Amino acid sequence: MTGLVFALVATIAAGVWVWRGAQARAERRRLHEGPGTTPEQAIPVSSFDDIDLVVAQRECTCGTGLRLTGEGSRQDGERRLRVSRLVCDECEEVFTLYFDLTEIRH
Ligand SMILES: [Zn+2]
Repeated sequence: MTGLVFALVATIAAGVWVWRGAQARAERRRLHEGPGTTPEQAIPVSSFDDIDLVVAQRECTCGTGLRLTGEGSRQDGERRLRVSRLVCDECEEVFTLYFDLTEIRH
């Protein structure tokens, strides 16, 4: 009987472990998908302050805020893009965000 209970507990524990791993992977995927994660999905901004705002709101999967490590510009056809590189100081996950600067007057 004890062996059966142990096997049951071990099975549940393994199930939870697999489920948590899948959850974490889904969360990571979500952070690397969606608005701003590719040049095609660049977030349209009307001022550079908007970029700072979006960057300040981003969090890593571990819940830590992200730090801006570098920025660059890129021309994508008619669009002017700003590429921001962000890093999590906790788990060193690196993120790239794209912003569409076409609306900003220059
Ligand atoms: Zn992190």
